[in-house]
Amino acid sequence: MSDTVTSRLAGFHKLPMEERLAQIGRMFRLSEEELEQLRGVGTLDPVLANQMIENAVGTFSLPLGLGLNLNVNGRDYIVPMAVEEPSVVAAVSFASKIVRESGGFVAEADESMMIGQVQVSNYGDPVKATEHILDAKEQILALANSFHPAMVARGGGARDVEVRILPAPEGPRGEPLLIVHILIDTQEAMGANLINTVAEGVAPLIEQVTGGKVYLRILSNLADRRLARATCRIPLRMLADFDLPGEEIAEGIAQASRFAEADPYRAATHNKGVMNGIDAVAIATGQDWRSIEAGAHAFACRGGQYRPLSTWYLEEGHLVGRIELPLALGTVGGPIKVHPGVQVALKLMRVSGVRELSMVFAAVGLAQNFAALRALGSVGIQKGHMAMHARCVAVTAGARGGDVEKVANLLVKAGHVKVEKAREILASLLPDTPGVAATVTNG
Ligand code: NDP
Repeated sequence: MSDTVTSRLAGFHKLPMEERLAQIGRMFRLSEEELEQLRGVGTLDPVLANQMIENAVGTFSLPLGLGLNLNVNGRDYIVPMAVEEPSVVAAVSFASKIVRESGGFVAEADESMMIGQVQVSNYGDPVKATEHILDAKEQILALANSFHPAMVARGGGARDVEVRILPAPEGPRGEPLLIVHILIDTQEAMGANLINTVAEGVAPLIEQVTGGKVYLRILSNLADRRLARATCRIPLRMLADFDLPGEEIAEGIAQASRFAEADPYRAATHNKGVMNGIDAVAIATGQDWRSIEAGAHAFACRGGQYRPLSTWYLEEGHLVGRIELPLALGTVGGPIKVHPGVQVALKLMRVSGVRELSMVFAAVGLAQNFAALRALGSVGIQKGHMAMHARCVAVTAGARGGDVEKVANLLVKAGHVKVEKAREILASLLPDTPGVAATVTNG
């Protein structure tokens, strides 16, 4: 796809869904089959679903939206997001618009270095056992690489061996834990399966050189050798909104950031906002989002206290935002080449590889966080959020078609976004329609 694709699609959100699809179809030259995948019509064949998991009985759908306006390292990205929560797609698009007008996000990502863990017990003297393992490093690496010759041929594979001695959880009378880390460059893959093969494959050699016994061997989802970072720098004047000057909005965001740095109770919600964006793209692009979540939160605790993944501060007339987190993503492996909807989602992303994908993910997380803090630090999120939530409430109350918007607007106007109120409004809109009356009554 040529680099003339823009993520700045003015008025896109006002178009009917079919016109949005037509526009995207033209931009990305999508086939009718690919458009069907975006529509979600038969996205995942039940036969395929049955091959993917156990006890399959069907498939499960989520709304798929497109995050717009994102510009990372000078390149535009349209971001597919699978998410049930209102406001998430709008927030990313809104924040990205402000950031693109300030020069866009700048991002970078480490190479795909993952960690395989092997736990050794009954090894005797920890210092000697460590020496024996490190003396056998080349042998261990060669054995590790023998399991994945194609990976080595691609330029990836096992790179290093590290040993960690950890205090016994039972106290000084317990055997300290001896953990061997195999560092593996998994290239375009997230890598879990290939790492697990390596960890299991090198265990007998580690037992042999230490004289110990290996029980557990698997990857670590704390992928802290595979970090992605994004920053943005927004002139204060561009933040003016809600009849407030930019300085005040920026101060609200910086104060919110300080709060999250000091307080894990706040940091958990701050990071939930970051993950609102990242999880949605992860699901749409077939990533192991449980791994991303586990890695992000473990990384947030790395200093001994749970902290925010992103921070904001004022610098020389600008609001500066930064995010750093582990992102074990893949453009191959797992369901990525299997799920046809994922293929179309990745086509829209137009990334050349997994590192670029990680950069976009990091920028999405920072954008999402910016949008939330901007509202939280000024007028609060309820106004915007309730407007979106009102539609859900209207549907729950039985509204359909054009009535959804009507009921939602009246709910917001009434300042009372509740199902009971929605039923009342719906009944007053269509008092004589028996079908609706029944729905209204039965909820
Ligand atoms: P796969 O095993 O499905 O696929 C990875 C394979 O793709 C590689 O081993 C490689 O095989 C092949 N490949 C082809 N081209 C490339 C390339 N350019 N770069 C890298 N590999 C390439 O997936 P992963 O090993 O990535 O594992 C991810 C899956 O594991 C996810 O579904 C995840 O849910 C699951 N999982 C996750 C766990 C966790 O704790 N998070 C635990 C267990 C499983 P070859 O070299 O032979 O061509």
